[in-house]
Amino acid sequence: MTYDVAIIGSGPAGMTAAIYAARANLNVLLLDKLAPGGQIVNTFEIQNYTGMGTINGADLAIKMFEHTQELGVTFDYGTVTEIQPGGNIKKLICEEGPTFEAKAVIIATGTKPRMLGIPGELDFAGSSISWCAICDGAHYRDKKVIVIGGGNSAVEEAIYLAGLAEEVIVATLFNLTADPSACDKLRALPNVKIYEYYENIEFLGTNKFEGLKVKSTKTGEELVLKADGAFEYIGLKPTAEVFKDLGILNDYGYIETDAYMATKVPGIYAAGDIISKHLRQVITACADGAIAAQSVAKYVENLK
Ligand SMILES: Cc1cc2nc3c(=O)[nH]c(=O)nc-3n(C[C@H](O)[C@H](O)[C@H](O)COP(=O)(O)OP(=O)(O)OC[C@H]3O[C@@H](n4cnc5c(N)ncnc54)[C@H](O)[C@@H]3O)c2cc1C
Repeated sequence: MTYDVAIIGSGPAGMTAAIYAARANLNVLLLDKLAPGGQIVNTFEIQNYTGMGTINGADLAIKMFEHTQELGVTFDYGTVTEIQPGGNIKKLICEEGPTFEAKAVIIATGTKPRMLGIPGELDFAGSSISWCAICDGAHYRDKKVIVIGGGNSAVEEAIYLAGLAEEVIVATLFNLTADPSACDKLRALPNVKIYEYYENIEFLGTNKFEGLKVKSTKTGEELVLKADGAFEYIGLKPTAEVFKDLGILNDYGYIETDAYMATKVPGIYAAGDIISKHLRQVITACADGAIAAQSVAKYVENLK
């Protein structure tokens, strides 16, 4: 079967693109290597999506996915490893085996967390070092935990963890750069200690995680922050390596698009955190998805 559009990635960008495409009477395939929702599935609270007040990320993801299903969007699991641009029909090759065909493609594969790359990190990655407070925070009930980073994600997740853990230690290379209201909230919590301008040296422990050695970038003083585990929020990197042969990535690995979310390959569009832009948020991902779908509708119409 040839779909009008195949959307790779079912985060906020992909799901919004699916909704707009289905409402434009396109036959839509929405593909993801994981369950639908993207990064918001693992976000405790979203407080800046218009009209929602404060909403749990997973709840918002479910609402978005239900919306796609009400409109008849086909969802399937698949890790796309290649797009063969062809002529008017694009082929999507999946790691799991199947291939899919569509007249147009929207890439909405988002980002993944950056790692520190310091000694000890790989020994504890996935056990005592995590990138998802929602998934793993419950292990630290009444324990001590380190949060690394000072941006919005780090501060929001530190606030969440402070509600579970006995103590949360925030270590950041610069000062806290998150929204001032979130920083104020974190600083006011009695069980949070913040170390600003500290560089991460190594994770400590042989079989059991013991803590993190840090060094002040101001005084050179080294400290051992003892804890039972750590969460890293030091930024994100694009999930687009598999599309590099299409020649649509910039030097940082993000996809270049124009204002219509079109890449330079006819019929291939991109939306959300994966594109080169300044603000990576749910609301901007949704906006990109809507624009991409409208552009695809025109592209498919012109193929007739
Ligand atoms: C901890 C944290 C807290 C955040 N808090 C907020 C907040 O409070 N407010 C806010 O507005 N934003 C917040 N964000 C940012 C927000 O989550 C993102 O901007 C948004 O999810 C981007 O949506 P997206 O659809 O572009 O990508 P994503 O949500 O990253 O979704 C991409 C999807 O693509 C899939 N995928 C990737 N590669 C492939 C492949 N090859 N084949 C098939 N599927 C693939 C992934 O599995 C994923 O489901 C937060 C992010 C993090 C990490």
